[in-house]
Amino acid sequence: MTFTLAIVGRPNVGKSTLFNRLVGRKLALVDDQPGVTRDLREGDAKLFDMRFTVIDTAGLEEVTDDSLQGRMRRLTERAVDMADICLFLIDGRMGVTPTDEVFADILRRRGAKVILGVNKAEGKAGDGGAIEAWSLGLGEPVRMSAEHGEGMDDLYHILRPLA
Ligand code: GDP
Ligand code: MG
Repeated sequence: MTFTLAIVGRPNVGKSTLFNRLVGRKLALVDDQPGVTRDLREGDAKLFDMRFTVIDTAGLEEVTDDSLQGRMRRLTERAVDMADICLFLIDGRMGVTPTDEVFADILRRRGAKVILGVNKAEGKAGDGGAIEAWSLGLGEPVRMSAEHGEGMDDLYHILRPLA
């Protein structure tokens, strides 16, 4: 048995950086649903001795403000439905933004099982963001740095029961 983790959140929080860290080079494009899943990247993830499937929600970076909301909502909902659990990332240096609140709402309405990740929190960066993150009402924030590999042990312990 294994599980699927979807990495969700607004553009630029570090989703793809984490995806690449977990997957390495072995990534595949999912393209069975035109217009939606071509923006979902699926890969075989490895975290210490644990293997699982990871989904990156991409393709939101170039959309205009007008279309961002609807498109990210559909994409996020699709990823949530494919996944057993979601890792919702925010940027710990920026703190909670209005767009993060929209995402939190999408996840709550969808009934998603959520891990709240406060990324870019290497060193003491993101201390404030981690405290702010409690306001999203998604439980205890997990501090991490996708770029520097910090917080991967915490992520491991949270995901381990699913493996
Ligand atoms: P995405 O749009 O959510 O997929 O975000 P990306 O993975 O493309 O990352 C956006 C930017 O944030 C890039 O410049 C990354 O190098 C940077 N970034 C990602 N993770 C971290 C991190 O843990 N710490 C810092 N300082 N920067 C990060
Ligand atoms: Mg990305």
